[in-house]
Amino acid sequence: MSRIYDRVALIGLGLIASSMFWAIKRAGLAGEVTGYARSEATRETARRIGLCDRVCDSAREAVEGADLVVLCVPVGAMGAVAEEIAPVLKPGATVTDVGSVKRDVIQSVHPHIPPGVHFVPAHPLAGTEHSGPESGFAELFDNRWCLLVPVEGTDPDAVARLRALWEGMGSNVDEMEADHHDLVLAVTSHTPHLIAYTMVGVADDLRRVTDSEVIKYSAAGFRDFTRIAASDPTMWRDVFLTNKDATLEILGRFTEELFALQRAIRTGNGELLHDYFTRTRAIRRGIIDAGQDTDAPDFGRAKAKS
Ligand code: NAP
Repeated sequence: MSRIYDRVALIGLGLIASSMFWAIKRAGLAGEVTGYARSEATRETARRIGLCDRVCDSAREAVEGADLVVLCVPVGAMGAVAEEIAPVLKPGATVTDVGSVKRDVIQSVHPHIPPGVHFVPAHPLAGTEHSGPESGFAELFDNRWCLLVPVEGTDPDAVARLRALWEGMGSNVDEMEADHHDLVLAVTSHTPHLIAYTMVGVADDLRRVTDSEVIKYSAAGFRDFTRIAASDPTMWRDVFLTNKDATLEILGRFTEELFALQRAIRTGNGELLHDYFTRTRAIRRGIIDAGQDTDAPDFGRAKAKS
């Protein structure tokens, strides 16, 4: 794979940024990768483990001269970071982000992008429940989707170059409109996370089941909820605060379905339950056929860095 950018700057050095660094290095996609994180502790860790060719003590220093700047901070922090780096962005450079919500990021970042600088929002649909600079690994994006959400009038060459970077990091790439992205993610990621958080919270409240029983017998289904519910609290707080409408819409639908199933259980409507579970099984089959998971019961755990 050949070099796509001479210099890439990663702002925020957590799971996604560190995985991007290792994936960029794996394929030789950039000449130099600079990095910045707000805390001294994260910058020190990054230097110790060789994350980034150069770790800088300010976001502006990291961004100076970069052809591509990637905002890898929580969604609620994107606007302030964009405002801070705006004066030093190189003409012709591209600014992108990896935020899990797109409409809010566009609204908070786009006004700070100076003329002559491209803005191409993006969202890699890949992650683990781990966070921080030591949680990343080069394979995170392999065969996962990355959605590009270009704003109107964006230079097609800037979009094509970013697409090439994500493909070089192992992703499949699609383009999507921002509101549609937020709705799709509310269905596939945001609402499921909220349900997992709730389920783990419920188990925590159930005093009739002891903590040790919950932990000991968790492989029966609860374990998968706990993995999701261990995700970073700041990131997920921001996701729900910024993708409010779509999440509430899908939660409303979810609640209706839940009530229907609750009634079926109470009235002994086995046919409804059986038909429902047959339909959901087909959706699972579709995900496996699309190569987004395997039938192996412990898929993901062996690969994800613990
Ligand atoms: P992470 O591992 O928690 O790292 C977050 C980074 O952002 C850290 O370097 C942190 O700095 C910095 N940061 C936190 N709050 C900040 C603030 N207020 N101002 C400036 N910097 C701040 O997060 P991540 O999982 O890589 O997520 C980064 C972005 O990717 C988020 O927007 C998230 O929505 C998106 N995303 C996440 C996943 C996932 O599964 N994790 C998947 C796809 C997209 P310090 O270390 O110095 O505190």
